Amino acid sequence: MDVPNVFKDDILKGKVALVTGGASGIGLGISRRLAQAGADVVIASRRVEMCEAIAKELADTYGVRTLGVALDVRDSENVNAVFAEAVQTMGRLDILVNNAAGNFYYPAEKLSDNQWKAVLEIDLYGTFYCTRAAMPYLKDDGGSIVSISMTLHRNGWVGMAPACSAKAGIDALTKTLALEWGRFGIRVNAVAPGPIITEGVKKAFALGGDFEDQKDTIPLGRAGEPEEIGNLITFMVSDAGSWMTGSIVTMDGGEGLSPQRAGLAPEPLAQMAEYMAAQRKG
Ligand code: NAP
Repeated sequence: MDVPNVFKDDILKGKVALVTGGASGIGLGISRRLAQAGADVVIASRRVEMCEAIAKELADTYGVRTLGVALDVRDSENVNAVFAEAVQTMGRLDILVNNAAGNFYYPAEKLSDNQWKAVLEIDLYGTFYCTRAAMPYLKDDGGSIVSISMTLHRNGWVGMAPACSAKAGIDALTKTLALEWGRFGIRVNAVAPGPIITEGVKKAFALGGDFEDQKDTIPLGRAGEPEEIGNLITFMVSDAGSWMTGSIVTMDGGEGLSPQRAGLAPEPLAQMAEYMAAQRKG
C-alpha cells in the first residue's frame, strides 16, 4: 500500500537524525520519511553495505546528506565511537530513533541464557547504550529521542518473553528519561506499532503460521506499513510534537483493542522449539 507523505519537505531541515536498524523494515520507513522531511540521516546497523546503499538512495532521492555506518547496538564501546564519528561527519545530532531489535518466538521454559541475553542485549541494552551516547550531543540545543516499543507486552504474549520484557523496560526507560532530561529540553518518547510485515516478522511467522489468517482480528483489517510509523515519528520529532515527552504512542490499526487478538500466538510452540534447535545445529 502506498502511504501518502503529508509533510512539507523542509520541516526537519538543518536537523541530523540517527536511525538504528534504519536500512530495513520499519527502520527504513522511518529513515525515508525523516529524509523526505529534510533531515540529514545517519543509517546504522550491522549490515553496513545495506546501510550505505540506503544512505545513497535517500541522498539521491531527497537531496539530503546521509551516512551509512556499521553499528552493533549491543557493544557500548562501538556505540560511543559510532556516535562520535557520526557527529564529527554530520556536524551535530538532533534526533535518535532506537529501532534496532532482534525478536523470536520460543517457549520460555526452553530459553537458553544466550537466547534470553541476545534479545535483551539488542532491544533493551542497545536502546540504553544509544540513548546514553546521544545525550551529550542533544543536551545543548534540546533534541528528540524515540524508541520503538510494541503493544504485545501490555497483556503478555505467548512465546515472546524476552521481547515483552525488553519492551516493558523500554517503556519504563522512556518515562524515566523524560523526567530526568526534560530540564535539558530533550524529549523522550516511544512508539508502539502493531503488526507490520517486515523481514523480522516474516521470519517469526514462517515458524508459526500465516499473518493472513490473523488480519481480520485487526479493526482496520490490515497490517501497517513502515512509512505509517515513519509519518508518526516525523510528527513527534518535529515542532508539531514540541510539548510531547514521556509518551508511548500506539499505532496499530486498533489491534490492541480487539478482544479476538488476546491470547493469539503462533502455534505450536514445541514445533518452533524443534525448528530453532535444528537451526542452531545446522
Ligand atoms: P526487522 O525487520 O527484524 O529489522 C530489525 C533491524 O534491526 C534490522 O535493520 C537490523 O539490521 C537491526 N539490528 C538487529 N540487531 C542489531 C544490532 N545488534 N545492532 C544494530 N542493529 C541491529 O524488524 P522490524 O519488524 O522492522 O522492527 C523494527 C522495530 O519495530 C523493532 O524494534 C521491533 O521490535 C518493533 N516492532 C515491530 C513490529 C512489527 O510488526 N514489525 C511490531 C511491533 C514492534 P542489521 O541486521 O543490519 O543489524
